[in-house]
Amino acid sequence: SRFPVVVVGAGPAGLTVGNILRAAGVGCLVLETESRRFVEQRPRAGFIEERVVRGLEQRGLAGGLLERAERHSVCEFRFDGHGHPFDYTELTAGHHWVYPQPLLVSDLVREYADVRGGEIRFGVRDVRLHDLDSDRPAVSYTDPDSGERLLVRCDFVAGCDGARGASRAALPDRARTSRYDLGVAWLALLAEAPPSSDRVLFGMHPSGFAGHMPRTPEVTRYYLQCPPGDHPDDWPHERVWSELQQRLRAADRPPLTEGRLLEKRVLDMHNYVVEPMVFGRLFLAGDAAHLVAPIAAKGMNLALHDAFLLGDGLAARLTGGDPAGLDGYSRTCLRRVWEYQEFSQWLSGIYHGVSSGDPYRAGTTLARLRRLFTSPLAAAAFAEQYLGTAAAY
Ligand code: FAD
Repeated sequence: SRFPVVVVGAGPAGLTVGNILRAAGVGCLVLETESRRFVEQRPRAGFIEERVVRGLEQRGLAGGLLERAERHSVCEFRFDGHGHPFDYTELTAGHHWVYPQPLLVSDLVREYADVRGGEIRFGVRDVRLHDLDSDRPAVSYTDPDSGERLLVRCDFVAGCDGARGASRAALPDRARTSRYDLGVAWLALLAEAPPSSDRVLFGMHPSGFAGHMPRTPEVTRYYLQCPPGDHPDDWPHERVWSELQQRLRAADRPPLTEGRLLEKRVLDMHNYVVEPMVFGRLFLAGDAAHLVAPIAAKGMNLALHDAFLLGDGLAARLTGGDPAGLDGYSRTCLRRVWEYQEFSQWLSGIYHGVSSGDPYRAGTTLARLRRLFTSPLAAAAFAEQYLGTAAAY
């Protein structure tokens, strides 16, 4: 069979590209290794930048989000035993929108498959990419029902299958991957407990970083810095809550509301960037091209920024419009990618400096933190990076 575009991966990036193509009347096939139920329930991100919300809205993809998401305008740093609220909306006029990734993915699948009539195959196996340097590339896969090996020819492949997909596996030798290890691990937790504050909390404590991120009235995400190599079993319920209470304690705030832990995963905190993001007819988007540890809540935002450019560029190219978007795709994306990488590295320094065991680094980290509350220029610089509103992006 033949489609103008094969999109590999039905995450936020792939589904957004697919939706943009369908809206432009371009035929496309999305291939996904997991089931529809699985991708619609996989918990991960939650914070969406104002610009990304507007980008989704312009493409008719923000209905559910605008109806149900909560808007945040303040986060709070906890250090020196006190809570220090930071109002970023006052400085940038932007908000963070809280909308769990599974809800966004469900909206995007429904819109793509059920409303815009896009083709999607779930549960496919052994996806392989072929002839990427020719103008007739192809993707092959094993059909889950018949067990048959199928080959789909296309004009373009959108590689949107995340950090461990077939697209990264198909990268040629000329691809350069730069990697940065943060030197720490985080325990990522989902608690069946209402948020303990209406805002995001960042705890910088000598025992390690802790974070609190409201998700829904019933579920809250927490993070705990832990030594690399730790196993979730090293962190039983009582230990998790006693560390969270200690690291996020502030004299002027109530203790956290505890609850059952629904998810407990150890994240090996690292970042990478693949350059360029285009190889022949393969265009990478999202985590397939770059990873940022969930330090600054940027991964899904970057994936969606890529997807807007890629979807618009492919649609223009395939409907006889301006090819410039597609030609400049890698360069334009990578500028934003490196900005976000730099911010994530800077913020990692703040999160992990106090607990580094190095009193000099702890001292400079606290100086950086206090500067956010004493220097309006430092505060504005942080706010525009945190919200993704800087002009350079
Ligand atoms: P993915 O979401 O990984 O989607 C790729 C899809 O491809 C998946 O459905 C996968 O099953 C499929 N696939 C894999 N291999 C193949 C194959 N061979 N063939 C076909 N399909 C394949 N980001 C934020 O912006 N804000 C946050 O608050 C935030 N919090 C996070 C918290 C945690 C704990 C984690 C782990 C991540 C967080 N992120 C956050 C990052 C965010 O979840 C990712 O950056 C985002 O999912 C990337 O989207 P994507 O579409 O590029 O890739």
